[in-house]
Amino acid sequence: AKMAGKNCYRFYSRAMDQAVERRVRMEQELRGAWERGELSLLYQPIHRLSDRKVVGAEALLRWQHPQLGSVPPSVFIDVAEHSGLIEIIGPQVLRTACAAAARWGAGLAPSDLPFVSVNVSARQLHSGDLPELVAGCLRDAGLPASRLHLELTETAVISDEAHASALLSKLHRAGVRVWLDDFGTGFSGLSHLRRVPVDGVKIDRSFIADLQRDPDDLALTTAIIAMAHSLGITVVAEGVEKEAQADLLHERGCDLAQGYWFGYPMTSAEFDQLLR
Ligand code: C2E
Ligand code: CA
Ligand code: CA
Ligand code: CA
Repeated sequence: AKMAGKNCYRFYSRAMDQAVERRVRMEQELRGAWERGELSLLYQPIHRLSDRKVVGAEALLRWQHPQLGSVPPSVFIDVAEHSGLIEIIGPQVLRTACAAAARWGAGLAPSDLPFVSVNVSARQLHSGDLPELVAGCLRDAGLPASRLHLELTETAVISDEAHASALLSKLHRAGVRVWLDDFGTGFSGLSHLRRVPVDGVKIDRSFIADLQRDPDDLALTTAIIAMAHSLGITVVAEGVEKEAQADLLHERGCDLAQGYWFGYPMTSAEFDQLLR
């Protein structure tokens, strides 16, 4: 038994070493990835459900590494957050997304110009001066604040509610919209929406996937929509893969939707084409 335990320990320790090694390697590779042109942004259209019109796009980061291949953001964003690299990559994402959005829809009426929605991680929220960074990016791109949305996760906001609330108020006053991402997956519930100034909630795609079959998911989604609307908050559904889901969401009063049924993440130029 003692021997088995020892072997077991050795096995896990080696597996752990490998996992740590992989992360360290990834962190090293991620450093400078932007400068080497390995990181890029794709934009996934967001549609208004009432008339199915494109009203904006979410910026999604992609990493194409020469040896590792395409690394999913669910993996490398985590590495970037824990290593602090997100404090370098985050501002580059914001700058690039604002510049791209400023070029979209040239010649269209101002009211038809789409917004860009940028993911901001917890670490970015709690370090440096986000409102100042945002103001700088908007100014340099010549993008009106109303055309920038920031997506923050529920957990990032509730981990330090007082600080987050002050920060978000500042952004809000500057005209930037703030959305709570992956809504419904945290444990915060809607009580936080009274204290934290948010303009929208994005219902997590885990609620949308089974909407037509699971009565609990439909009930929760319907409740989120009703409560958000009573507080004057916009509701966005993510992960819409079927027309029937879009129809059901529209019927329940959901405002906006995003997902493979409407469009996959695409380049900035492709998104601009979509507006024509
Ligand atoms: P997220 O913010 O929840 O982004 C939505 C994810 O759902 C994206 O995955 C998108 O490609 C995917 N998706 C969109 N429509 C559908 C659909 O109909 N069905 C399914 N199954 N999936 C759909 P992606 O691009 O792999 O990004 C994963 C996560 O990485 C994002 O989740 C976000 O949390 C993070 N992320 C991506 N880009 C950035 C970034 O620039 N900064 C930060 N901080 N995080 C980012
Ligand atoms: Ca998001
Ligand atoms: Ca999300
Ligand atoms: Ca999600």
